[in-house]
Amino acid sequence: MRGAFKIATLRGIPIRVHYSFLLVLPFLAFLFGQAFRSAALAADIPPERLIGHPMLWGLGLAVALFLSVLIHELAHSFYALRKGGEVSDITLLMIGGVSRITRMPDGPRHEALMALAGPVTSLLLGGLFLGIYVLLEGARSFNLRFAFFYLGSLNIFLGLFNLLPAFPMDGGRVLRALLTGKLGRVRATQTAGAIGKGFALLFGLLGLFGGNFILLIIAFFVFMGAEAESREVLMQSLLNRVLVRELMVPRTSSVSAEDSLEEVATRMQSERRRALPVLDGGRVVGVVTLAAVRQMPAPRRGQVRVREVALPVSELTPRTTAWEALRQMGQRRLPQLPVVEDGLLVGTVTQEDIMRGLELRELEDSQRHGPWGLGPGQRESPT
Ligand SMILES: [Zn+2]
Repeated sequence: MRGAFKIATLRGIPIRVHYSFLLVLPFLAFLFGQAFRSAALAADIPPERLIGHPMLWGLGLAVALFLSVLIHELAHSFYALRKGGEVSDITLLMIGGVSRITRMPDGPRHEALMALAGPVTSLLLGGLFLGIYVLLEGARSFNLRFAFFYLGSLNIFLGLFNLLPAFPMDGGRVLRALLTGKLGRVRATQTAGAIGKGFALLFGLLGLFGGNFILLIIAFFVFMGAEAESREVLMQSLLNRVLVRELMVPRTSSVSAEDSLEEVATRMQSERRRALPVLDGGRVVGVVTLAAVRQMPAPRRGQVRVREVALPVSELTPRTTAWEALRQMGQRRLPQLPVVEDGLLVGTVTQEDIMRGLELRELEDSQRHGPWGLGPGQRESPT
């Protein structure tokens, strides 16, 4: 994600903080500081029990809330990892955290449990902090006790708010998983997405008339998220029905691992290619990209061999689905992948090839069944 910097890595998951979070931190510190002040006033606390400046307590509370959100996200991510999913990173934003799950655990049951793991963790954390608040009954510092009360309440709120069935929020994901058995994944996502958009409009109105800026931003993210995921799932269902064989460019050219980058540059120019498969002894060993050639200063390109800059690729066969091919290109940030059969290069496939295939498949489906080709007989089987 752009505009974010890494603060740590946990179990191989990079934890990033977005700059927007740094913008909201002083604002939260101020808001929480005010809460400490007014709580002390309301409870008529004598000054000797107020240790430390309220703003410092506010800042401490804001950081503790940030850690609570991180624990919520880690709960999602660790569950995904344990059930065979893949997580590319966790980013903390102004409005909360986002775990980027690049591969979901299989099946709606695991998806529902993965979504539930976050809010349940927040509710448990909330319970823990409220428990500490009760135990601190006789404490001399009013602020310390109030901090646990406030942090506990915030976590309970966080847990409950995320359970609202506003897709793509956690509760909405649980709803989608529950609907998947009956409707199939595409219809379930579209239904959950429509409900999510309804919630987004409601949040937007509440935010507008209540003057709650954060709620307005959440409304925006929920709306856009519902739209984007509905489209993605639709695309996934279409691309899962298309094989690489139908989209690839057969009998493609390639370069040898021993060629120089200068030769590659000439080939790319004459053949108008942004990437070329690399062969070593007849076998595909990787891909060389335009970006890799450009990174090398022009005077050095004559001495550098392709094998030194080739990027390793995973096996794509003619029977791989177009969705899997697109996923691997996205994950490896490659514009093109070689297609291999029995150890031999049989073609290449690019993102453009796949998008063109998608558009043609949509056209074909619309000729047969109307807009999206999802007539009653064409339900997706739950995955
Ligand atoms: Zn969550």
